[in-house]
Amino acid sequence: MGAPQITQVSFENPFVDELRGEASGLLGPRQVPGYCYSRVVPTPVRDPHLLAWSAELGAYLGLAKPAERGPAVDALAGNLVTGSMKPFAARYGGHQFGNWAGQLGDGRAISLGQVAATDGSRQEIQLKGAGPTPYSRRADGRAVLRSSLREFLCSEAMHYLGVPTTRALSLVATGDSVVRDMFYNGNAAPEPGAIVARVAPTFIRFGNFQIMAAHSETNNLRALADYTIHHHYPELGPPSPAVYVRWFEEIAQRTAVLVAHWMSVGFVHGVLNTDNMSILGLTIDYGPYGWLEPYDPDWTPNTTDFGSRRYAFGQQPRVALWNLMALAQALTPLLDDAQALRPGLDVYADTLAATRHALMLRKLGLTPLAPEADLALTQDLPEALAGPEIDMTVFFRHLSHLAPALVAEPGRETERFDELLAVAAYAVVPGEDQLLRQWLRRYALRLRQEPASGETLRANMLRANPKFVLRNYLAQGAIEAAEAGDLSRLETLFEVLKTPFAEHPAHDELAAKRPDWARDKPGSATLSCSS
Ligand code: AMP
Ligand code: MG
Repeated sequence: MGAPQITQVSFENPFVDELRGEASGLLGPRQVPGYCYSRVVPTPVRDPHLLAWSAELGAYLGLAKPAERGPAVDALAGNLVTGSMKPFAARYGGHQFGNWAGQLGDGRAISLGQVAATDGSRQEIQLKGAGPTPYSRRADGRAVLRSSLREFLCSEAMHYLGVPTTRALSLVATGDSVVRDMFYNGNAAPEPGAIVARVAPTFIRFGNFQIMAAHSETNNLRALADYTIHHHYPELGPPSPAVYVRWFEEIAQRTAVLVAHWMSVGFVHGVLNTDNMSILGLTIDYGPYGWLEPYDPDWTPNTTDFGSRRYAFGQQPRVALWNLMALAQALTPLLDDAQALRPGLDVYADTLAATRHALMLRKLGLTPLAPEADLALTQDLPEALAGPEIDMTVFFRHLSHLAPALVAEPGRETERFDELLAVAAYAVVPGEDQLLRQWLRRYALRLRQEPASGETLRANMLRANPKFVLRNYLAQGAIEAAEAGDLSRLETLFEVLKTPFAEHPAHDELAAKRPDWARDKPGSATLSCSS
């Protein structure tokens, strides 16, 4: 017997069954005070057909790959709602760019309910771009192919890099067009529409709690907190004020681990508003995200953020802390002592520092032999890397290959550094790389104290330094091809990104530094929020 199609499995709906929701079914934009969600039905699309499917995630969920068209794809596009699904849009609020924005909510994402995965865990399936909901405000509830393809590929790429993330099961073209003003310059144009089915244990965000606190809906706030603890943090036991405190510490810890991973792979989320922070510490809402190419803490791909750079690469640790403080404030009505969540913020800071350091040691092939000197070594690297234009991914990957020679032939290290810089740098201005060379000399000296050498050292480092990340220009190339009807670039990229630490010698071009033409190209170097 083969695996069932999504239309054949039974959905569970605890979010709808256990929390207070609004069931008018009306899709018009409005405020929904007093409720955690609204029951909605997805709005059908003209000609849904499958563009991409994550086979491994499908297998994990026990679902068969659907045919290009048919009932399963209809369900993944929202055209078919089976008897056990109770679709809903969640109500949440959030701080956008530091300012309280009031009610936001699932304006285009509609959850179908959850299914039992093969390991017994429960996984929610949510359609992004499935049509208007009460939370759509002035927008259309839809998503374009370019942003959907970016979310599909990056969710899966992050998973295979070992970064906590929501997943993506399918990418479905709708056959409808969606009008977007991509550059916010008054040139709105039709683009192909698409829907991603994304998957996570829950899509609850910091903002779901914030909206309840902002409206003094303490009963809903407590119900949502208890629901989240019961279903997603069961190890904490029955909710109580003391358990809320431990729960917040756990959220802080997971958020710290998340941010540490972003910093170690060069990922820039781009829009770290509090409504884009998962209560499970997952990367959520892939919008104008990007990958560092030249190492630059001040870099952001998001054109909306060019002025303040609030969400630039190097700001992410601080912004996540800011967001945790906003969550703490929202949870305070549940506590006897308003200061009780302060230790959670220390947990964040400590976990972030420890995890960043541990991840960096792994990248450098170092074991914890010399804690104090090693801390100085890892902390000095960002400044050294930020001077010359060094491609972060290429730098660490090539360093992994070079490491055995640095150990075996100390006399030739200058030659090796020249080679590394020639491979990894976009443009080294003579002299500008001195800090980096000094750092590399310190590192080489330290590396020689390691017990591992030769092939073992190289293999350890190659497992910590991916060869392939979803470079912005590669995603853009796959989008342009897909828009022209050619899915081969998407497929090749997806295959390679599933094993990003392998060599894939036939696909060296996908590991290359960003070519010159992509330097300032929209979609490759800069992205707007228009999606
Ligand atoms: P984002 O910037 O994608 O995190 O979205 C911020 C808010 O705008 C969320 O409440 C989204 O649901 C909503 N939103 C974004 N795009 C659309 C759209 N095309 N239609 C309806 N709501 C949207
Ligand atoms: Mg969002």
